Amino acid sequence: MAEHLTYPVGLRLGGRRVVVVGGGHVAQRRVPQLIAAGALVHVIAPEVTPAIDGLAAAREVTWHPRPFVPEDLDEAWYAVAATDDAAVNEQVSTAAEERRVFCVRADDAARASAWTPAVGRAAGVTVAVLGERDPRRSAQVRDDVLTGLRDGTLNPPSGRPPTPGVVLVGGGPGDPDLISLAGRKALMEADVVVADRLAPRELLGDLRPEVELVDVAKLPRGRSAQQAEINRVIVEHALAGKRVVRFKGGDNFVFGRGYEEVIACRAAGVPVTVVPGLTSPVAVPAIAGIPVTHRGVTHEFTVVSGHLPPGHPESLTDWPSLAGLQGTVVVMMGVENAPHIATALTEHGRDPGTPVAVVCDGTMPTQRTVLATLGTLAEVMSAEGVRPPAIVVIGDVVAVAHPEHFPEVAARLPGEPVGEPAPRG
Ligand code: SAH
Repeated sequence: MAEHLTYPVGLRLGGRRVVVVGGGHVAQRRVPQLIAAGALVHVIAPEVTPAIDGLAAAREVTWHPRPFVPEDLDEAWYAVAATDDAAVNEQVSTAAEERRVFCVRADDAARASAWTPAVGRAAGVTVAVLGERDPRRSAQVRDDVLTGLRDGTLNPPSGRPPTPGVVLVGGGPGDPDLISLAGRKALMEADVVVADRLAPRELLGDLRPEVELVDVAKLPRGRSAQQAEINRVIVEHALAGKRVVRFKGGDNFVFGRGYEEVIACRAAGVPVTVVPGLTSPVAVPAIAGIPVTHRGVTHEFTVVSGHLPPGHPESLTDWPSLAGLQGTVVVMMGVENAPHIATALTEHGRDPGTPVAVVCDGTMPTQRTVLATLGTLAEVMSAEGVRPPAIVVIGDVVAVAHPEHFPEVAARLPGEPVGEPAPRG
């Protein structure tokens, strides 16, 4: 029984030599955490994976391209025997034992003087779980603890209580799984949540019952009156000592008026922080299987608001210049003005045969993609009854994703690159 008991410690490896014997996938998994702890990592192995080779090239580890010799452990504080050869691992642990260096073994934990716990960090706490030699169970317990720390259901006893103020949280395109961990944590810690119509609604069901939910859709009408009211509400609650989350779809700074809220908070002396979100002009095409860039097809993508038609006196977009670009154009808030936008682009030189995809209700159960060209866009959108929210993607990347629908465009796209070296990890 006693052989299963360990004495857990946190090794402070900063500036200390750690020797990793082996250069395969086990070593590759251990090395980054050793580097993160500041250890001087020496890898002893005739051959290493491309990832370890890359770390050596970047001088994050020292690689000795040769077999292990016991003297490798002379200066070591800690050793990792991670070869796939039990005899070599045995040599390493024997040499470590002789030198009184603690040593973990990839192949046979029973013959090692130390075990590697399942490790993670969250909320300023390091979690290390030793599952009595059941690695899967320890990883599961670690993940459960980390989840609890991140979403606020487990509060670290010495953790600082969250301070009052405003957090602008980007909720992503709608699917509740597509919010960031930081965003979810801020939401779970909030006393007041001010939510938009496009913010992922399902997440609001997880809020504690005492949380006050302010629905922006119910605030006074009119764009500027509504924004002034939002600013007033978030500042007032924060000044009353509450933790306020301003919760929006996508990212608060992408056509989200987030910075007006930052300015309002600063003017009132209210602390304000930002948690970025997955923004819909990138995330919604991605979910629909359309890449906004593709090698050899486009070297740019431009995100533009379509809420004002081209030529409108208040428009800040240079549509003729946009029409001169080759790459992807992503139009947001463009359902109403899509016909005008298609006309402006073709009038100023973009090919009417340019492929277009309109992705409606991205990530929702009602998601659908409508395909057209710049020349047919107006007609197709009205025939299909397209309603907001929708993202309009214009450019050859649409043909990359749907070659069967745009055979002529697809035929002149570059083929798969051949004979390219694999990217080095
Ligand atoms: N701040 C948000 C955008 C707000 S503007 C973000 O970063 O994504 C609102 C526009 O975003 C809509 O008119 C639509 O063009 C787009 N949009 C947001 N969510 C969407 C979704 N789930 N599906 C399709 N379009 C979406």
